Amino acid sequence: MSWKYGLIRDMSRTDYLITSSEFGVVMPDKFPKAKHHYLVLPREDIPSIFHLNRTHLPLLRELYNLAQNAVKIRGVTWEDFQVGFHAEPSLQRLHLHVISKDFVSPCMKTKKHWNAHNTELFVPYEKLCVHLERENCFSRLPKSLVNEMLSQPLICNQCKFAPESLLDLKAHLFYHWHSRKKEHEQKHIIDGISKMSFRNTPPKHIQAMTPPQLNQLNHRPLLLMYHGPRTFGDGHYFSPSQRKGYTRTPGNKGFRPPPPINAPPHYTKKTFAGERTVQNGQENGAIPRRIPKTDENKNQQVTQERIQQNLNSQQPNQDSNQQS
Ligand code: AMP
Ligand code: ZN
Repeated sequence: MSWKYGLIRDMSRTDYLITSSEFGVVMPDKFPKAKHHYLVLPREDIPSIFHLNRTHLPLLRELYNLAQNAVKIRGVTWEDFQVGFHAEPSLQRLHLHVISKDFVSPCMKTKKHWNAHNTELFVPYEKLCVHLERENCFSRLPKSLVNEMLSQPLICNQCKFAPESLLDLKAHLFYHWHSRKKEHEQKHIIDGISKMSFRNTPPKHIQAMTPPQLNQLNHRPLLLMYHGPRTFGDGHYFSPSQRKGYTRTPGNKGFRPPPPINAPPHYTKKTFAGERTVQNGQENGAIPRRIPKTDENKNQQVTQERIQQNLNSQQPNQDSNQQS
């Protein structure tokens, strides 16, 4: 069997499939171009996108539903995916690409691989449906146009970075993926703490306390630094004064004593990926990010202004002392 029929051969291997229905099957892409890459194929023998017309719209909807099921089964986030068809497919049997937008993969090896998924050569599901509704077919693009798109300059799909080489792009994409992963982990930890803290309604004066913001905490010393509302395993609430001097024992979830007055360095705030740092004139050492001005920044500014005013008001006295 020719390599062109590889998908048709593999769709009958039930152990290989992620999910299936009476309308189609979902299989993992054998050479994934991202962290997650699946293909949805109809059971009906439709050779390619060029054989579709308006009557296939309900079937396409079924394939789209299958794609959503597969993403759910794999426990990943639907919004992180792009879903569509290649305008110039190479393998037989219509197949819908369901691919995560990170594009972090050792199989992403050529500029063509990138441009096939990140130019007009990738036809999103919704766009194809609108096109079929209007035109009743999808025609092959002229060869010259396909070649032009495949050789387009590389550009990041998540910011405006234009790398000089695929290697640069891959390193850059890895940076995006890693930052997102870290942010996700931070959010997970804070959500966990919020759930733990607010399981029982705390007293009103504690309710008024605001939980820490993502950019204020490094996840490692998180529990050491945050002394907001806490309840223990049995739901009993301890006031801050009751907690004083409390040492953690197994079974008393999530509470540690406040830092000592002369706290060692690991109690202090450290910067992390989500926080603004400037290195070599670039924020976070690489990709510029827009950081909203927080109240904390404003407060810092006000404090600095006050210190300056105090210094200014002391200045004449010092001068006069020196003169005398
Ligand atoms: P296309 O350019 O749309 O025809 O893409 C075909 C996709 O099928 C590519 O992403 C390949 O990595 C993938 N592929 C090739 N052979 C197999 C196979 N036997 N099983 C699953 N995926 C495959
Ligand atoms: Zn980017």
